[in-house]
Amino acid sequence: MTDLAGRRAVVTGGGSGIGKAIAGTLGRAGASVTILGRNEERLRAAAAACGGLNHAPCDVTNPESVEAVFASLAAAGPIDILVNNAGAAQSAPFVKADLDHWDAMLGVNLMGVVHCMRAAAPDMRKRDYGRIVNIASTSGLRGYAYVSAYAAAKHAVIGLTRSVALEFAKTAVTVNSVCPGFTETELVEGSLDTIEKTTGRSREEAVEELVKYNPQGRLIDPDEVASAVLWLCSPEAKSITGQSIAVAGGEVM
Ligand code: NAD
Repeated sequence: MTDLAGRRAVVTGGGSGIGKAIAGTLGRAGASVTILGRNEERLRAAAAACGGLNHAPCDVTNPESVEAVFASLAAAGPIDILVNNAGAAQSAPFVKADLDHWDAMLGVNLMGVVHCMRAAAPDMRKRDYGRIVNIASTSGLRGYAYVSAYAAAKHAVIGLTRSVALEFAKTAVTVNSVCPGFTETELVEGSLDTIEKTTGRSREEAVEELVKYNPQGRLIDPDEVASAVLWLCSPEAKSITGQSIAVAGGEVM
């Protein structure tokens, strides 16, 4: 059983879906967890549902917002674990995707990770301990039609992970990505809405459309992603760095 007692963890986008599952899992392993997000009411509800976590408002696309919240967290004690989970997936055919769409997808899915890593990583390196886990996606390991900006951002997160892992390899700071396949969250509900709207398919057919990518023929449970993150945060995972671990039923290998 992984024991994270005494460790302080930050999970971005922890008010829902995969982030909420990760925060709850790290908390149950004994870590003191703070969840960050834009919607305070939602954060409060998630923090309470996960057994009383800490929460703070933060828009990860805004470097000032990120710097301020990490400075205030660091003033109370070092951050040992950073899980960059906040993200959003909008679809658009490449020929129709405008620059606002690209800014939005790169802003949250790539630059949000960069801002949080810039805020937390220097102190981890100085203290010679840390675990950084970036929630990328199978979209960081392969392409899917109609999500070029999202996939470009997630591929970039994997490149960022690999490079910083090498820079930190002589320290006890590990940097990894976890790459979920289609997972049962609000984000996937949004994708199902789009499939229904743009193709005229029923909800059931839309679910089938996504499930067919997973060789196990199902959607992933957010707790399965959280288990992979917990393992990467454990002391035993000290040799695992620079990896991109798919939690996707064998979709990519
Ligand atoms: P979700 O929509 O439930 O969670 C995303 C969270 O990020 C939300 O709480 C949202 O409010 C927060 N967020 C978005 N923009 C933010 C910002 N600017 N600042 C702070 N918080 C912000 O969806 P999810 O499926 O739980 O997604 C979590 C992560 O998993 C994302 O990075 C997503 O790309 C990734 N992912 C999801 C799937 C899937 O199928 N659900 C698959 C692969 C990867």
